[in-house]
Amino acid sequence: MNPLVDPFGRAITYLRVSVTDRCDLRCIYCMSERMRFLPRTELLTLEELDRLCTAFIERGVRRLRFTGGEPLVRKGFLDLLRGVRRHLGKGLDEITLTTNGVQLAGFAQALFEAGVRRVNVSIDSLDRETFARIARRDCLPQVLAGIEAAVAAGLRVKINTVALKHDNAHEIPDLIKWAHGRGHDITLIETMPLGEVDEDRTSQFLSITRVREDMQSYWRLIDLPDRTGGPARYVRVEETGGRLGFITPLTHNFCEGCSRVRLTCTGRLYLCLGHETSVDLRTPLRAGADAQTIHDAIDAGIALRPKGHDFQIERLSTPATQRHMSVTGG
Ligand code: SAM
Ligand code: SF4
Repeated sequence: MNPLVDPFGRAITYLRVSVTDRCDLRCIYCMSERMRFLPRTELLTLEELDRLCTAFIERGVRRLRFTGGEPLVRKGFLDLLRGVRRHLGKGLDEITLTTNGVQLAGFAQALFEAGVRRVNVSIDSLDRETFARIARRDCLPQVLAGIEAAVAAGLRVKINTVALKHDNAHEIPDLIKWAHGRGHDITLIETMPLGEVDEDRTSQFLSITRVREDMQSYWRLIDLPDRTGGPARYVRVEETGGRLGFITPLTHNFCEGCSRVRLTCTGRLYLCLGHETSVDLRTPLRAGADAQTIHDAIDAGIALRPKGHDFQIERLSTPATQRHMSVTGG
């Protein structure tokens, strides 16, 4: 089957799939305390998720990342993994997930057995009170236990940290030292204006480009050529020996090499995290469409792929999209 290539010549080899919009945390930059979740009938079933993942793999997607919301709160998530595992080595190179780690301790071994070898765990602070303020839930001990269990199960762990001016800016060097001391890569992320939250994101915005410049006054950062098909750029920190990534959608736009598309938990294919352009794959799926019709719908979406996002710092207080990251899949 012909591979997926967008109008700008970028091959689509990476699919992020949000398996649920629900979550057991309520991070301040991601959702409101009173977040209203979607009715369950809106969500793709496990069979529908499998069918769409399979269609993308047939068209050249080599890496699948499951996310959410929190993927580990989706009932039957392990069954989904055990199903798509059949594609590993037959077109699919890797199955990964992004998790908040709260339930990871209970899942780590089963994830490994289902073919997962790497997980990204989001952690914004190592101070219990700060963590509880950012996540609005006092769950740091569970997350740390989850990371330990993941390592014990043989999973490689990468840490994701959203940089927040008031809450964790001062802690970032310690977070990096902690992660590198345990052999984990860590990536710093700028807050993006996705969906309404209770706070004004402008007040918490921290430029990662600035953080990087400050860091260069006390650490030697060596640029690495590593690319993961997404927006992160990596350096090696000479003093810690570890790998550090920067995701700077607001202060530095890296869309040109992007190979990713996103499937929401409701079956919409989004061509870019920062654009509303999307196509609905659930309607044809539920109308009993055959494989060719689904492939045609995917092609129609890829043909609409924009060149890049247009997030702007001046407009951080108004969401660029009404969609929360938890629906689209971060
Ligand atoms: N619940 C899982 C987790 O937190 O890792 C997976 C989904 S979460 C939406 C994926 C990533 O997106 C997390 O690292 C989170 O910190 C990040 N994120 C959520 N909302 C964001 C926003 N508005 N701007 C930047 N990053 C965001
Ligand atoms: Fe949940 Fe992840 Fe959003 Fe935090 S960032 S509220 S853990 S989906």
